[in-house]
Amino acid sequence: MAPLPLARRMQALEPSATLAMAARASALAATGIDVIDLSVGEPDFPTPEHICRAAETAIRSGRTKYTPAAGIPELRKAVAADYSRRSGLEVTPAQVVVSNGAKHALHNVFTALVNEGDEVIVPTPYWVSYAELIKLAGGRPVLLPTELGDDFKLRPEALRQALTPATRMLLLCSPSNPTGVVYSAAELRALADVAIEADLTVVADEIYDQLIYDGRQAVSFPTLRPGLEQRTVVVAGVSKTYSMTGWRIGWTICTEPLAKAIGNLQSQETSNPCSISQHAAVAALNGPQECIAEMCQAFQQRRDFVAARLQSIPGIRIPDIGGAFYAFFNIRPLLAKGRDGITSSAAWCEALLEKEHVALVAGSAFGAEGNVRMSFAASSEKLERGLDRIARFAQA
Ligand code: PMP
Ligand code: GLU
Repeated sequence: MAPLPLARRMQALEPSATLAMAARASALAATGIDVIDLSVGEPDFPTPEHICRAAETAIRSGRTKYTPAAGIPELRKAVAADYSRRSGLEVTPAQVVVSNGAKHALHNVFTALVNEGDEVIVPTPYWVSYAELIKLAGGRPVLLPTELGDDFKLRPEALRQALTPATRMLLLCSPSNPTGVVYSAAELRALADVAIEADLTVVADEIYDQLIYDGRQAVSFPTLRPGLEQRTVVVAGVSKTYSMTGWRIGWTICTEPLAKAIGNLQSQETSNPCSISQHAAVAALNGPQECIAEMCQAFQQRRDFVAARLQSIPGIRIPDIGGAFYAFFNIRPLLAKGRDGITSSAAWCEALLEKEHVALVAGSAFGAEGNVRMSFAASSEKLERGLDRIARFAQA
């Protein structure tokens, strides 16, 4: 029998390149090979103990049933209080919708706001899922290249030039996945001014806002100009900050009417996020916060090590990594040599995996060919061995 024909919206859908590479690395490791997987971006720390205990208590006390679609009131309240405290903006629980991870929150936002043919400006390098989620919602991702020389930051002039009558939305991610770059308040404010002028909605993916180094201050986008919160949707969650990737809790912070619409959407699509995970997330937000500083410190040390090692490899260049846990490095001079017929970032990653058993993700998956992403959310021992192998491969 012929395969069932997929709906049109599925035909161009790419699988997540980050997850695909992680799956390949673990399949290879299962055959007994010593693979160093630096592909997927997920903290290697265990979820803090007090958060796990809250989940156990939730199970034992019967919090195992459906919850309100937009999340349990305690969690919406905790998210609103945490965000208000850190940003200085007064946000109410009614402006918060809890979803099954920040990825789901993004899917909700695009579904709720993007019409067929609307253009969404996405600076590249971009995190793999943005373009696909925008397309699924019927929108057109407009990929705007940024330069390593500008630390991969979108400039306001470039944004202005990309505007068309169909431009509806701007997507920003700072600290950035995949580059680790952090915009300053002034840089974000300049982009906010263009967004206000052009009447754009801004989706600010702030999932790495607390994983930030060298004493930098995270700035939440809507705080930058009065009234900006009316046109901004903030997406964040517990996955990275509290090492809770598997628990699947993320959220949207936006205007109340939009939050209501997203809650309705979610009530039809998924009911509610996992009840147990929601209780764990309450403990994460309301409990002791030292775990964040501890993880952050470890990430900063690893960043220092990784950046220094990568910079010492001839032919590799990196931007200033101010947050998140990625090094996005340029390998153009290496590709230009055409060694073993390797002229693309995908081929380079493929050969690195084959020869040295190190898994990285090709820049092409992030809309930035000629680069490679390495996650440094791994133990120092793994990073050291991984970088030895990368250096050997790059200099062979
Ligand atoms: N946004 C960015 C920039 C990310 O790196 C991730 C991590 N995959 C997500 C959103 C999604 O996070 P979650 O695991 O909570 O769905
Ligand atoms: N954010 C992580 C990454 O980019 C997780 C993988 C994913 O969700 O695609 O590697």
